[in-house]
Amino acid sequence: MKVWTVVNQKGGVGKTTTAISLAGSLSAMAYKVLLIDLDPHASLTHYLGFDSEKLTLSAYDLFVASQHPHMLTKLIHEAVQKTSIDGIDLLPAHMALATLDRALPEQSGRGLIVKKIVACLQSKDTEQKLNHHYDYIVIDCQPVLGILMVNAMVAATTIVLPTQTEHLGLHGLNKMLRTIEQMKSSLSPDLVSVIVPTLFDRRVNACISAYAKMRETYKEQLWRGYIPVDTKFRDASAQGLPINRVAPNAKGSFAYEKLAGELLKHG
Ligand code: ADP
Ligand code: MG
Repeated sequence: MKVWTVVNQKGGVGKTTTAISLAGSLSAMAYKVLLIDLDPHASLTHYLGFDSEKLTLSAYDLFVASQHPHMLTKLIHEAVQKTSIDGIDLLPAHMALATLDRALPEQSGRGLIVKKIVACLQSKDTEQKLNHHYDYIVIDCQPVLGILMVNAMVAATTIVLPTQTEHLGLHGLNKMLRTIEQMKSSLSPDLVSVIVPTLFDRRVNACISAYAKMRETYKEQLWRGYIPVDTKFRDASAQGLPINRVAPNAKGSFAYEKLAGELLKHG
């Protein structure tokens, strides 16, 4: 089971779009995907048509229950939602996630909770209970460096860094790369981080120069493609579906398909 964590300390750079679009590409290749929404704003949960305030269980409950491992399997089973998309399930978010920093006791191991949840999902017992095996977990994060982001990064086998192709975007990216460097000892030793240029508009000079700067600055970590601005993303989100289910021939669909292929090469 591989874990792709989508993070950036900046908002509006295409994180949620990247999470749902990658899940769409993976499921089109017949992989089973679990999306985990770790943003208290629950954008991804709402995107997929769920009202997070009306759900009885969410990722929050798993965080709180992580101190009682025997309950975890049962709670995962109850909290995970089937979506309308074949091959994609969702562990939804709830506003209460914003209170975790205070709700969880100060202890070592606070950063290992998502890792524990992933281990639990991989156990035979849970797979039997869910009658299900996931090939990929894709985690969407809020743009805040706190317990949620730390957990999502510690559990990751790949960190995906959507970065808007504009100069302010590069500033945010540097901050994020410093964070990854500082956390290095807690992260997976074979972790791969991939910078993904997003919202690229080839008619806009600022995009072109920011993209050129990215290619010059971030050599091997940078994905050589880019995600273009595409109005089809709006149509996809209005329908609560990944872009490849709404507009399979859109340039945005092709771009995420290519990105998914590139990330798959890393394992
Ligand atoms: P984040 O999760 O980083 O805050 P989102 O994925 O929610 O960012 O994207 C912010 C807004 O930009 C959303 O309205 C989304 O539909 C739109 N968007 C994201 N990527 C693209 C794109 N490549 N082309 C056009 N619109 C996009
Ligand atoms: Mg988001």
